[in-house]
Amino acid sequence: MKKLIAVLMAMNICFLTGSVHAQEKITMYSIDGSRITVSASEAEEYKKVGWYDNLSQVTTVMYSADGRETTVFIGEVPEYKNVGWYENLSDVTKTMYSLDGREITVFLTDVPAYRAVGWYDSRSQVTKTMYSTDGREITVLLKDVDAYRNVGWYDSIEDVTRIMYSLDGRQLRVFLGDVEAYKQVGWFDDIDAVSKEMYSIDGRSIRVLLKDIDAYKKVGWYDDIRDVTKILYAPDGREITVFLSEVDAYKQVGWYEYKSHVQKTLYSRDGREIAVFLDDVEAYKQVGWYEIRPYGVDPLKPMIALTFDDGPKASTTPSILDTLEKYGARATFFVLGNSAKNNPDILQRMVSIGCQIGNHSYSHPDLKTYSATNVAYQIDTTEAIVSSIVGFEPAVVRPPYGSYNKDIMAIADKPFILWSVDTLDWKYRDAEYVKNYVLKTARDGAIILMHDIHSTTAEAVKSIVPELIAKGYQLVTIDELAAHKGYTLQSGYVYSQFK
Ligand code: ZN
Repeated sequence: MKKLIAVLMAMNICFLTGSVHAQEKITMYSIDGSRITVSASEAEEYKKVGWYDNLSQVTTVMYSADGRETTVFIGEVPEYKNVGWYENLSDVTKTMYSLDGREITVFLTDVPAYRAVGWYDSRSQVTKTMYSTDGREITVLLKDVDAYRNVGWYDSIEDVTRIMYSLDGRQLRVFLGDVEAYKQVGWFDDIDAVSKEMYSIDGRSIRVLLKDIDAYKKVGWYDDIRDVTKILYAPDGREITVFLSEVDAYKQVGWYEYKSHVQKTLYSRDGREIAVFLDDVEAYKQVGWYEIRPYGVDPLKPMIALTFDDGPKASTTPSILDTLEKYGARATFFVLGNSAKNNPDILQRMVSIGCQIGNHSYSHPDLKTYSATNVAYQIDTTEAIVSSIVGFEPAVVRPPYGSYNKDIMAIADKPFILWSVDTLDWKYRDAEYVKNYVLKTARDGAIILMHDIHSTTAEAVKSIVPELIAKGYQLVTIDELAAHKGYTLQSGYVYSQFK
């Protein structure tokens, strides 16, 4: 401020002296605020060393951020800058923008107040760039975006372009308007037209150009995900698709490779079959489904299991099967291994008409007199013979003479089936006697013992079967009788009737 006072003092001097030499003298100024009075002839020389004849040539206007202005000598500018003054108006102002497209220039100190009433610092805050499918861009006010959308402008460049692909693996982003032209010169807008996803058995995937697929196949990649995955099944009906490399791990935690391993076929009394998941079997059994084909068995009506031992015999057993088949009846045949071996067709017919096959040892010894090894031979050999003929082992055992002990049961490892009615048909060899005895002793749940190797028994069966049926009995197998009476046959147990 000292310089400013000096200017004022110099002006006073000028005023006093100027009144005397007005015609001859010129006042000159320097940028530090000094002035001198010189003659007109001297003035040109002074201009060459930094003096000016006009005050406006040595002063400038400076601005403050709050909107004030002041005029200072040019020499004072640095000093003023140090205390917050600026040389340019643009240094203390800012352009602000409104949502409706107006602009306004305000002093910096007013910016917060303008922000508070809806003005924004930058144009990008109130505008948006929009794109057209032919590649043009336009910047519009936010309030106009919807209107522009309605006339074919899009928010993002992705909306108006498409990635195109070449057979050699290049990619290009192309405006929608140009897609057809690119197609004409060998580009594709579908990545699947130039490449294919390939898969490894450990679950990796990779996209491979069509021309490279054969090469990848040679090193263990597959172009069909079904080639590297497998569907596994759970007993509760869930399915899961896993990669081949994971199959073993899943199997160890209760998953199975085949649906048939987690399902069981159940049967209804009216002849229907259904495959249900293992976890659902018990629920189905409570509503009228059976694990054994019930052949129309009515669990509420009486039933009997006819059993025939010591066969099969070619001269007598087929006659019994004829009778059973004729009346839709079934029985259980406890066969000897060495007889079964020689009559495979008879065993197959037993199964085909719904009869059951039991194990009666290989050669009919009293097993209690045999060593463990020989007992095992008697049981196991017969199992193998039956299995080789009909495809499955006998599910039950009847020891010859009904003779057994705990060791024999442990070796056989199957439920033991005895009888509740012994016809002694082998002793009487009298068809009439046997028939009468059976009819007299028949009752619900009975297991009746006969022998299919006697012609008298075959003869008796011809009338036993129809007469028992006439009395209301259903003639069923051991498995059916047990199942319908609520028994689950177990190894280590002996059954002689099912009440
Ligand atoms: Zn026997």
